[in-house]
Amino acid sequence: MRIEVDGVRVEYASGRGREPVLALDGVSFEVGSGAFVALLGPSGCGKSTLLAVVAGLMAPSAGEVRFVEEGGRPAAGGDGMGAGQALSAVVFQEFALFPWRTVMDNVTFGLEVRGVGSGARREAGRRYLEMVGLGSVAQRLPAELSGGMKQRVGIARALAVEPRVLLMDEPLSALDAQTRALLQQDLLQLWERTGKTVLYVTHNIEEAAFLSDRVVVLSRRPGRVKAEVVVPFGRPRD
Ligand code: ADP
Ligand code: ADP
Repeated sequence: MRIEVDGVRVEYASGRGREPVLALDGVSFEVGSGAFVALLGPSGCGKSTLLAVVAGLMAPSAGEVRFVEEGGRPAAGGDGMGAGQALSAVVFQEFALFPWRTVMDNVTFGLEVRGVGSGARREAGRRYLEMVGLGSVAQRLPAELSGGMKQRVGIARALAVEPRVLLMDEPLSALDAQTRALLQQDLLQLWERTGKTVLYVTHNIEEAAFLSDRVVVLSRRPGRVKAEVVVPFGRPRD
C-alpha cells in the first residue's frame, strides 16, 4: 500500500480577526509500499498536521491523500478521511494510553471499538504484546510501567488493529536517550517483521537517518517540502 500526499494545504482559522495560520502550503510526496519514510522538520513546520491529514483525523483545505494498492488500484476503504481512518493507526509521542485500563485492555481497545469479540481480542492482545516484548505485564496499569514500556504498549495497540499503514508522531521523543536507542532498534525489527508502510514524524535528524529509507524535509515556514533525501548510507541491517 502506497501513500500519495498530493498538494495538501491546511489553514487553521485562528479566530477573533487574526490571520489564519498556514500550516501546510501544498505538500506533495509519496510513501512507497512497505517503505519507512521519515518526515523531518523543526517544531511548528506542520508535521503533526500532515500526519493528522493522512490519518483521516483532519480534512485538508486543498489537496488530497490517496492510498494505492501495489497494482495501482485505489485502496478499498473509502475516499478522503474515511480511507485514512480505515487503513492507518497512529502511535503518539505522549503514548495516549487510557490510565484506568490494563495494558491488555489498552492494546485491544481499537478492536473493541470495531466490535471484535472478547476471545479474538484477547488472542490478538497477547500476540501483539508478545511482539513488543510485554507479554508478562498484560494485567498491569500504564502507571506501573516505564516510559519505554508505555510506548511499547502504544505500538502494540496500533498494530493490533492490523493497519495497512503505520503512522508515528515523534514516538520516541518523550523517552530518555538509552530507551530511545533500544526502541529504535526494535522499531526496525518490527518494521521488517510486519512489512508495514510507515510514515514517521520526527524533528530528530539522527533518528530519521537511522530509521528511514527516505527523508522528506519540511521547511519551517510556510509548511512546504524543502527536500527529499534518500538515505544513502543504509541501515545497520543492510
Ligand atoms: P509540528 O508538528 O511540525 O510541530 P504542527 O503541525 O503542530 O507542527 O503545527 C504547524 C503550525 O500550525 C504551527 O504554526 C502551529 O502553531 C499551527 N497550529 C497547529 N495546530 C493549530 C490549531 N489547532 N490552531 C491554530 N494553529 C495551529
Ligand atoms: P525498555 O524500553 O527496554 O522497556 P525501559 O527503560 O522502558 O526500557 O525499562 C527498563 C526495564 O525496566 C524494562 O525493560 C523492564 O524490564 C523493567 N521495568 C520497568 N518497570 C517495570 C514494571 N512495572 N514491571 C516490570 N518490569 C519493569
